[in-house]
Amino acid sequence: MTWSASDWPTEDRDGFRFRGGGPALDLPATLGGRLKPEPQERLQTPQDLARWFRAAGLVAEAPPVTARDLSAAVRLREAIYAAAMARRGGEPAPSPAVAELNRQARAASAAPQLDADGRLRLEGGTAALLSTVAREAIALIGGSQADRIRQCEAEGCALLFLDTSRAGDRRWCSMATCGNKAKVAEFRRRRRGAKA
Ligand SMILES: [Zn+2]
Repeated sequence: MTWSASDWPTEDRDGFRFRGGGPALDLPATLGGRLKPEPQERLQTPQDLARWFRAAGLVAEAPPVTARDLSAAVRLREAIYAAAMARRGGEPAPSPAVAELNRQARAASAAPQLDADGRLRLEGGTAALLSTVAREAIALIGGSQADRIRQCEAEGCALLFLDTSRAGDRRWCSMATCGNKAKVAEFRRRRRGAKA
C-alpha cells in the first residue's frame, strides 16, 4: 500500500522534507540529520506539527495540537524509523517500536474526505491523524512493498523513501540534492584518478 493521495508533496515545503512518497516515511524526516552529531529537530512546538500536517497536504486546516500530541508524534516518528530500519536489515522490528506503532494505529483514524477540488484530505483530531500515519506505516513495513523501503545513500543523509522505480534502483532521497552531490563527487574522483 502506498499513500493514495496523488498530490502527496514531492518537493520540500515549509522547511520540511517530502521525499519519501507518503506520510509514513516522511514523518521520520522531521528529525533532520539524524546521523549527524547534532540532529535538527523540526518538530519543536505543537505549531510545528500543525504546520507539517498542512505542508503535507493532509489537512487544509490543522486541528488543535497539544504538547501531548507533539510527544506522541515524536514517539511515532522514532518507532517508524526504528521499525523501517530493522525491516531493511532483515531484522524483526524492536518491540518498543512495534508496541508504539500498534498502540497509535488502534486509535480511530482520520476520515478520508474529498475536498471541493477532488483531492484527498483527512478529517479528524490530531490523534486520529497520527493513527492514519501509523496505519500507513504498518501497511508499508508489514506489507509486500517493504523491500522497496530505502535509505538515501548519500553520506550523512538518513532520509527514507519508497522506491517506486520500475527497476528498483533509486539510490537517493532526491536527485536534485543528494543525487547531484554524489554525481559531482564521483566525477571529481574520476578526474583525479585520470590525472594520477
Ligand atoms: Zn538524501
